[in-house]
Amino acid sequence: MSSTFVGMPTLPSQRGHGNLHAEEPFPQAATRELGNSQLRANLRHATHTIRDKRLNVVGELPDWEDLRQAGSDTKDAVMADLPAKLDEFEKNFTARGGVVHWARDAEEANRIVTDLVRATGSEEIVKVKSMATQEIGLNEHLEEQGIAAFETDLAELIVQLGHDKPSHILVPAIHKNRTEVRDIFLNEMPEVDPDLTDNPAELAMAARAHLRQKFLSAKVAISGANFALADTGTLGVVESEGNGRMCLTLPETLITVMGIEKVLPSAQDLEVFMQLLPRSSTGERMNPYTSLWTGVTEGDGPQNVHIVLLDNGRTNALADKYGRTALNCIRCSACMNVCPVYERTGGHAYGSTYPGPIGAILSPLMTGIEAEDNGSLPYASSLCGACYDACPVKINIPDILVHLRGEDVKAQHAASRVPTEMDLLMKGAEIALSSGKVLNLMEKALPLGRLAAGRDKKIKKLPGKLAGAWTSSRDIPAPPAQSFRDWWKKEGRS
Ligand code: SF4
Repeated sequence: MSSTFVGMPTLPSQRGHGNLHAEEPFPQAATRELGNSQLRANLRHATHTIRDKRLNVVGELPDWEDLRQAGSDTKDAVMADLPAKLDEFEKNFTARGGVVHWARDAEEANRIVTDLVRATGSEEIVKVKSMATQEIGLNEHLEEQGIAAFETDLAELIVQLGHDKPSHILVPAIHKNRTEVRDIFLNEMPEVDPDLTDNPAELAMAARAHLRQKFLSAKVAISGANFALADTGTLGVVESEGNGRMCLTLPETLITVMGIEKVLPSAQDLEVFMQLLPRSSTGERMNPYTSLWTGVTEGDGPQNVHIVLLDNGRTNALADKYGRTALNCIRCSACMNVCPVYERTGGHAYGSTYPGPIGAILSPLMTGIEAEDNGSLPYASSLCGACYDACPVKINIPDILVHLRGEDVKAQHAASRVPTEMDLLMKGAEIALSSGKVLNLMEKALPLGRLAAGRDKKIKKLPGKLAGAWTSSRDIPAPPAQSFRDWWKKEGRS
């Protein structure tokens, strides 16, 4: 068994690797995605449908706010005592016949899983939808090693067959409409009826027939986990299609890859989280399938049960006293369904496995703000606060976004001694606003602004990168003929 260094955040190996990075600055990626009107129409329809369902079922519970508070308090308590909770989980999981592996980063987790699959002699595995395995790029790694991974969740299957990337943590193919799905099936499933229509029931039946043989023949399954219960060593997966239940029960070997933040103290906590999660994610009172398993039971289910406990930057996030509550996330996706930025750009613009408001804080917290283009992610928000209102565990995403913007500015200053345009603007504002006399002098320049505005009294173009970006999408009204202070004086009020 390898070891991890929970609580020692300065080790470089604890920075997150894998699919956690924006591949280009967010504004650049967002501008490109905004040009796709089909994507925007799909996203609008899907996010509004889920959002309305969520509001209906949340509104049924008079104690919803108490549940949110309980969920938040439980997760805060876990994060404050994470090493002990993980030790307790390891002890109980091992006592019931499971094997625990610790992975510092994506590379180590991929290596552990590959070795475990190789040891079974199998070259094929079936998968339950899992964010952690997407984060570490497990499918791609297995493919390089000659092991074929088959996604069994319908939306994940669509993404995999379409050689695409997920764009939503709960509905990975949210950017595809049913006609596009039909085309993918026709191209990628050799056995499918060539007269397949885009009727959802027909599409589901085609996927079902495609996957059935995989379920029955697979010797190894790989899953994520929604929860790990420390006091019993139990793991839990919450899903809607039953594909998870097939993967978790039929193969001989079951390997779970789980972020270390998913641990809960005991089964009693499920009372709260099993009300919060389905309502916030799919807008259902209860999800159709909840599978809980505790170690190995002879003659029943998988006989080789493993868990890979994944750090990959989580201790880096834990070390940030303002940002650490991002680890409380239960991946319900409610924040992205209400986010005006996500609704227009979609998930691919964020680059990372984690899109939307949670991705804009979680990715830079796990990798460090200076990693690749992740410093641009905290700006992917209007700070409207809708994500905070929707979050079932009350993560104050807007506050963390502002904190991370500050960290980004500090990182940029540390990297370059040359002042940026923003630095100069802020310095000018500081000088002007710190003295009435200086402000008065600067106000004398107002007529120049009126000249620049021209006849229609609008300034349409300003020089410089920053000011130029501002006027690229909006006009600035011409300044008034006299300043407020001049008017005040003329009115004899001074
Ligand atoms: S941040 Fe909150 S709302 Fe967003 S996915 Fe996580 S738990 Fe859900």
